[in-house]
Amino acid sequence: MSVYDERPWLARYDEGQPHDLVVEHTDALAMFRAAVARNPDGDAIRYFDGRITLRELDELTDAFAVGLLDTGLDAGDRVALYLQNVPQFVIALVGTWKAGGIAVAVNPMNRERELALLLTDSGARVLVCLEGLYRDVAAHVVGGTDVQTVVTTSELEYQTRDDPRAFGTEARRGEVPGTTDMAGLIARFRGQAPPPVSFSPDDTAVLTYTSGTTGPPKGAMNTHGNVVFNSQTYRQLCELGPDDVVLGVAPLFHITGLIGHVGVALLLGAPLVLFHRFEPSLALETIRDERPTFTVGSITVFIALMNAPQAQAQDLATLTKIWSGGAPIPPSTVKAFSATFGQYIHNIYGLTETTSPSHGVPAHAQAPVDDASGALSVGVPVYNTVVRIVGDDGQDLPPGEVGEIVTSGPQIVPGYWNKPEETERAIPGGALHTGDVGYMDEAGWFYIVDRKKDQINAGGYKVWPREVEDVLYEHEAVREAAVVGVPDAYRGETVKAFVSLRPGRTADEAELIAFCKERMAAYKYPRQVEFLDEIPKTVTGKLLRRELRARERR
Ligand code: AMP
Repeated sequence: MSVYDERPWLARYDEGQPHDLVVEHTDALAMFRAAVARNPDGDAIRYFDGRITLRELDELTDAFAVGLLDTGLDAGDRVALYLQNVPQFVIALVGTWKAGGIAVAVNPMNRERELALLLTDSGARVLVCLEGLYRDVAAHVVGGTDVQTVVTTSELEYQTRDDPRAFGTEARRGEVPGTTDMAGLIARFRGQAPPPVSFSPDDTAVLTYTSGTTGPPKGAMNTHGNVVFNSQTYRQLCELGPDDVVLGVAPLFHITGLIGHVGVALLLGAPLVLFHRFEPSLALETIRDERPTFTVGSITVFIALMNAPQAQAQDLATLTKIWSGGAPIPPSTVKAFSATFGQYIHNIYGLTETTSPSHGVPAHAQAPVDDASGALSVGVPVYNTVVRIVGDDGQDLPPGEVGEIVTSGPQIVPGYWNKPEETERAIPGGALHTGDVGYMDEAGWFYIVDRKKDQINAGGYKVWPREVEDVLYEHEAVREAAVVGVPDAYRGETVKAFVSLRPGRTADEAELIAFCKERMAAYKYPRQVEFLDEIPKTVTGKLLRRELRARERR
């Protein structure tokens, strides 16, 4: 019996569609190959005036794969992608698969300590990065890691120079000493193809880093099966086809961009429109020119588009399929966006560990709003997915009662890279304990109302308090530090630090903020610091972050 037979309410939203999603490809590479065979001359990527067709992408990734094998890459070796949203992200990702490797998606906002940790944890042999990121950050840390080859590239590659929208002209182009130039590598092996590889659905395709529910960064092992399944989920849930044009507003290193942009475009053989950094006026101009039809991003993107001074009602006329995920979106934002552009934002919910969506609002449906909490529903569980609401002692709760969301299905990662204990804690028996607290209503719609985990959600970017506290403790004046999320009009939440100082030492707010800013990705450093004589703690000395959060809400 299918799970959908037990949940007949789902049929209302996907009438005429098979309830069980039939997985069409064994691995992500097979999905891409099928798209190339169907429509080789179709655009795979559009980047300013630059165009890469599916056939060209196939050739570029063949050559890059041969280049990777030439560096000595073995099956299962990790290739870290430390890149913004540039075509080379897709080339390196698909090329890594063709060489039999595993890609590691690294946040390009990461600074030295964050990058070093990910490279060390994943044991990456190859690092692919933009020249600027190499000079500023990677060059200082690769020496202490297993990285043997650094491949550098420029955001100017693949964009035409005379496009008035083009930017990034400050970037330098050319050989970077000690690194391999990506364009040169591809040119050297152009016309060659790597030996055929095949993956099983259980093989890891990408490591995506998350603090999960327990803190330290961990590499979620998104398998080929996970990637194919949730690319297909987007296609079904959002009613997408080969005529759609995908707009890339989410970062590609994050699971939302990785699956909702790259996975979807490779599956459909549809163009993926990229710009290397999200900037609202550029995005609006690109939307007018490229006429995309589908996107998924976080609330901050939609607020920025709406508030851009040059925004006009007809700008988003073609962009009829819009989903927002990664962070809560209030009904008022959906309403204001619709008043500005005439388009409805569908909510979608998932985690890195669910390879993007586990729940979503299907195309043509509108999410109900909970009367009591005012929360917009995150939707209904996607295909072949079983969701439980679990109470404190592990019992299943009936509709309307609030508990932890526990999700099982074909999109759940089998675990974290080299972390069996963390895997057992978060995903016992393959069921993901999300750390999100919510309920299901009588009609089967899900709502998220709270969080069990300490994670701070700054507009989709996740901050783990311990990481910020660890940096604060390195400051010689800090005796104790506790970091919490506080409400923020733009990001939903932002980072605040409570600090007590060592006797006889001084430090002010600006100094501590600057100290953190230098040492971590820009969305993580505290925007506010409040000094306390004592940080509230339990009798056993554990920080009472909950108390500090409650104090902020009051
Ligand atoms: P990440 O692993 O970065 O994808 O973060 C996953 C977390 O983002 C979830 O556990 C939720 O706390 C939050 N999240 C994702 N989508 C939504 C949504 N639509 N509404 C509320 N929170 C969300």
